[in-house]
Amino acid sequence: AKDAAAAYKSSDADGAGPATAFDNILSGKWPSDKVYEDDTALAFRDINPQAPVHVLVIPKIRDGLTKLSCAREDQEALLGHLVYVAQSVGKKECPEGFRLVINDGEHGAQSVYHLHIHVLGGRQLGWPPG
Ligand code: IMP
Repeated sequence: AKDAAAAYKSSDADGAGPATAFDNILSGKWPSDKVYEDDTALAFRDINPQAPVHVLVIPKIRDGLTKLSCAREDQEALLGHLVYVAQSVGKKECPEGFRLVINDGEHGAQSVYHLHIHVLGGRQLGWPPG
């Protein structure tokens, strides 16, 4: 995540950011295990799952949302929609409970600079996180 943050900073710090793996998923160039899709959001299974259920919810158009802290006020409705989609996936796949995580920047251990909400569950999760 540190390398990813450094690459992000050196290549584009203004919120536009370089292309990420998720662009390839969105364009269909790379396969993904989709669990939900609508006009503005896509949910697919994480390639390196940290729990029995590990789904990522992303905006289809990044529009500067390389990370949560780049959010603009006019994106509030989109952010709310992404959280709504995430709880809907969590509720369906993890009836006993789940966790939503958004990693932001270097200290947040973010590795892909296209906003995503992790939906984690399917086992007892620990707290606090590392
Ligand atoms: P971050 O560390 O919060 O940025 O999370 C990025 C997540 O994206 C990690 O959990 C990766 O395993 C996941 N990931 C990266 N590339 C792919 C992919 O091509 N398909 C599915 N998940 C991916």
